[in-house]
Amino acid sequence: MVKNQLQLLWKLQTLERQIEEALKEKGSLPLVLERLAGLLKAQEEKQEEEKRGIEELERERIKMEGELEMEGERIKRSQLKLLEIKTNKEYQALLLEIEGGKERNSQREEEIIKLLENIDQLKADYASTVERAQKERVAIEDEQAKVKDQMVKVERDIVHWHQIREEVLQELAPEHLKRYNTLKVKRNGIAVVLVKNEGCQGCYVNIPPQLYNEVQKYKEIILCPNCNRILYWENKGAD
Ligand SMILES: [Zn+2]
Repeated sequence: MVKNQLQLLWKLQTLERQIEEALKEKGSLPLVLERLAGLLKAQEEKQEEEKRGIEELERERIKMEGELEMEGERIKRSQLKLLEIKTNKEYQALLLEIEGGKERNSQREEEIIKLLENIDQLKADYASTVERAQKERVAIEDEQAKVKDQMVKVERDIVHWHQIREEVLQELAPEHLKRYNTLKVKRNGIAVVLVKNEGCQGCYVNIPPQLYNEVQKYKEIILCPNCNRILYWENKGAD
């Protein structure tokens, strides 16, 4: 009878600790999901940013090409005008203007080449970012699915353990339950401890051999002389 009660107390404590752990996990899983969603968002933002960088350079290139073309037209017009000029002074001035335009355009061409090189580099970077992101996305989504499954499992475990706990409480004598609850509050949530090798597994102090024998007889509820917890000897192989 005492043995049965001790087993029930041990079972009760095990269930309560499992429930407590599961509740902690239940509380932490939404944070894991939040973190994973954050990773996906950060990925998208990185891609967007890289894309904007490419678009910016493209706009600059288009602008530069437009300027190049306009200057080219201006040079052509000036060259035609050269034919109609009468004075040497005007001729020299216009020639200088044409030279200046050609100089500016050759600088523009160099810049356009640099821009094209940069755009190519950014595009290659973007492509590898997208490729890496796709792989990461698969892994993240896989993780999200696992976490969601785990949320369902934890929820189910909690309900299940609560049911068993209720059954245990039905069988447990009120005085034992009362003692258990009091000890649990006083002793950091642990009211029942295993005895192994003549030692209390709650406070790790050895218990006297005679008391150790008593514990193994399951005749009465025995408390650890040091930490006052209920001592429970698991008779493996006997049950
Ligand atoms: Zn103890």
